[in-house]
Amino acid sequence: MLHVEAIPALKDNYIWALVRDTACVVVDPGEAAPILAWLQDTGTRLAAVLVTHHHRDHVGGIRELVDRFPVPVYGPAKESIAEVTHPVAEGQVVALPDLGAELRVLEVPGHTRGHVAYYGHGHLFCGDTLFGCGCGRLFEGSPEEMHASLARLAALPEDTRVCCAHEYTLDNIAFALQIEPANPELAARARRDRARRRRGEPTLPSDIATEKATNPFLRCGEAAVVRSAQAHAGQDLRREADVFRVVREMKDRFRQ
Ligand code: ZN
Ligand code: FE
Repeated sequence: MLHVEAIPALKDNYIWALVRDTACVVVDPGEAAPILAWLQDTGTRLAAVLVTHHHRDHVGGIRELVDRFPVPVYGPAKESIAEVTHPVAEGQVVALPDLGAELRVLEVPGHTRGHVAYYGHGHLFCGDTLFGCGCGRLFEGSPEEMHASLARLAALPEDTRVCCAHEYTLDNIAFALQIEPANPELAARARRDRARRRRGEPTLPSDIATEKATNPFLRCGEAAVVRSAQAHAGQDLRREADVFRVVREMKDRFRQ
């Protein structure tokens, strides 16, 4: 049985391990130490490394890992990451024979220009593109690009487990409640995820159905989200991508 484990790293990153029996791949190893400890504790063998984008908190641990275990490193062809041995692009399939698994590559520009996500076996590894109830900042891409990237992820099967690279969910929920104060599913998610954090558990993986019901960045066509964005912008917003742009700007300025 394939399953995932969230290995906490740095301040608020998760390094996801996709595991079958005693073999695993890890996604976005921002540091090596927590992975090395986890491999040792669980008796799991590293078969490959997957990377979604070039930011330090996602690649910082690769060198130390491959010095110890010389495994293939998959990463976006459109970004320059020194440790990547297997550059990947849209539509390519990453075969992971040790896990009997295959993951499909989706190019999802917006947070960075070459950002990729990996999808397969009911799991999505989306790096800093889609977060629990939020999305990544637009460091290198346009609102139109990010909106289109998120729409692609939202079109995946509803039960897809969403493995994001950061534990930002509660902050994102606080913002989402400001955008959509009357969304009952959002209120339920707030209760559920606050309880998880109180117990010291991750709020992730989430799933696509939950994100579509609660994440304002996937709801730019919903009347309540449009109303909040228009009130902030002081003008009519005709395109979903314009609603997205305004909601993203509001989030950039949001302080609890
Ligand atoms: Zn990033
Ligand atoms: Fe990050």
